[in-house]
Amino acid sequence: MNDNNQNNSEMKIIDAILSDTAKPASGRTRTGSRRGRGRALRPNPPSVSENQAEVQGEAKAAAAESAEQQPAKAPARRQTARRAKPRTAAAETAAVSSETAAKPVRNAKNASQKGRRGGKTAKKLPTVRIIPLGGLNEIGKNITAYECGNDILIVDCGMGFPDADMLGVDIVIPDFSWLEKNVERIRGMVITHGHEDHIGSIPYFLKRLGTDIPIYSAALTIGLIEGKLKEHGLLSKAKLNVVKSRDVVKLGCMSVEFIHVNHSIPDAMAVAITTPAGLIIQTGDFKVDYTPIEGGPIDIARFAELGQQGVLCLLADSTNAERAGFSESERQVGFAFENLFAQAGDRRIIIATFSSNIHRIQQIINMAARTGRKVAVSGRSMVNVVAKAIELGYLNAPKDILIDIDNIGRYPSNRLVICTTGSQGEPLSALSRMAAGEHRKVSVTANDYIIISATPIPGNEKHVTRVINDLLKLGAEVIYKSMYEVHVSGHACQGDLKMMLSVTKPKFFIPVHGEYKHLRAHSQIARDMGVAPDHILIADIGQVIELDAENMRQAGTVEAGRVFVDGYGVGDVGSIVLRDRQHLAQDGLIIVVVTIESESGAVVAGPDIVSRGFVYVRESEALMEEARLLVKRVLDDCQDKHIREWSALKISIKDQLSSFIYKKTKRGPMILPIIMEI
Ligand SMILES: [Zn+2]
Ligand SMILES: [Zn+2]
Repeated sequence: MNDNNQNNSEMKIIDAILSDTAKPASGRTRTGSRRGRGRALRPNPPSVSENQAEVQGEAKAAAAESAEQQPAKAPARRQTARRAKPRTAAAETAAVSSETAAKPVRNAKNASQKGRRGGKTAKKLPTVRIIPLGGLNEIGKNITAYECGNDILIVDCGMGFPDADMLGVDIVIPDFSWLEKNVERIRGMVITHGHEDHIGSIPYFLKRLGTDIPIYSAALTIGLIEGKLKEHGLLSKAKLNVVKSRDVVKLGCMSVEFIHVNHSIPDAMAVAITTPAGLIIQTGDFKVDYTPIEGGPIDIARFAELGQQGVLCLLADSTNAERAGFSESERQVGFAFENLFAQAGDRRIIIATFSSNIHRIQQIINMAARTGRKVAVSGRSMVNVVAKAIELGYLNAPKDILIDIDNIGRYPSNRLVICTTGSQGEPLSALSRMAAGEHRKVSVTANDYIIISATPIPGNEKHVTRVINDLLKLGAEVIYKSMYEVHVSGHACQGDLKMMLSVTKPKFFIPVHGEYKHLRAHSQIARDMGVAPDHILIADIGQVIELDAENMRQAGTVEAGRVFVDGYGVGDVGSIVLRDRQHLAQDGLIIVVVTIESESGAVVAGPDIVSRGFVYVRESEALMEEARLLVKRVLDDCQDKHIREWSALKISIKDQLSSFIYKKTKRGPMILPIIMEI
């Protein structure tokens, strides 16, 4: 369908409705921000292959782990983020809703005129469009656009992890094409929390669409974004704004209120978006923790208040929608640590966990303080996050308890805790290097008591098992199973999801943040809670979902998908390159080099055959010689038949050689003929 026409007509309607309230922020002009402007810095390639949702939130922290071979850097001096003007939430929400409510007549009249022109007689209500560009039917790269009239706002801008078959791909980012086409209408981006699947693509987004798009989030999240932007050389240009829970930011005709939720990283927030069509809540990643380590319980009161006022649509985290019961409090982990620290006795304690799980690190520090141990942090991402969290006041460490990893030799084993990355067995992480005996500072011995404080993400079990085996071989005691039992997820289970649905009472429901099975499970929960089946939509990325006060409908699609980042290259690795890489990885390569005389077509040098990743040549000399003779025969044949066309020669060589190789070896290497003429 024609998006533009529809957009235009809607724009007019909404402009009319909101003529005095919804002026776009300013007539911003943009310099060309086409692809290729500026160079992408190589990201820290994640080593976690993440196909599963299980502990999605926590998993994201693992993204930066593999960069640990680089020396730990001191945290960047924090650029002061401008604080968004907080208004009182209630006042703002009331103001917006009264503005929209005050003009229903004008609205209906206007809309019905438009409606007639469009051949319809039904009156047209103000509409808002939700356009998920990532995070549905997949894990990672969460990004959702909200389009209303002439305004677009974006919630989250995450990255995804490459699947095993995406060879050489470092990270996966969303396709920004649609946003790029509509860049003039983007009023801002709001970020729910600091996990990679919510912030990881921001540098790529800003490079592609321009750094003048303002970003709003809580202090820690902004701090983590700053670190990212600094690596990409974008920090000085970005417009970062710190908000706190219940602040409201007006973005065009929509306004966004931030609502505190619990998650496996501090400062997670849901967003409540007031639009002319109604109020939409997107929970972001959340769980319910009545006794969190920091930040207080989820702001249920505010969700309930909004539920009272009327929620048009709820988009909620589906990660744990298959899990019955309620999510456990992070505090449970603290009780487990208490026992484990006692069991460790005089041994050195090494604990591996996700670097962004600051609450868990806080509990480790607390236990260390109580047992008179010092804490050393190992792993670049953890060093960075801990420094940032202390700087911003999210992590409280008693004076002198944190020591540099270089100084661990100065303390006896019973006075030490080493807090490390690598809980997922990521090959380059600090724990993996300790297990392999390759860590420069830490040698594991029988005097070590090692706790892996994270559940392996499905797909990572093999890595984790290998690391555990290696650590056990070094004589250490490794606690993993009992930790799995108390490892608490950062995502709401069924009971919590029901709570969210029951307090917000949404008219429409869209499960988000999950694979199809999670979205299905979540939609069943909503049905069980009494949401009408036709008011629930399992959407897909690129789908345009149009809502007004009465209806939810699918309104076409926009360009969406995934873009691969490989080194400096963003989007230059496509399906053809990947297919070649897979081919090369699976079957190797044979290069045929031959020089022919251009006049006669006679072979004057070669053919020579070079192979890589196919067979070990020294043990297959006979085969390679046979192949060489075959190519020679093919070329002689061509000469006899007066075939001089390069492409014809190449095709003949390829065809004959590949069927020969297949007959002999049942393998299909890539064959690359190189013909030189003299
Ligand atoms: Zn997430
Ligand atoms: Zn998360």
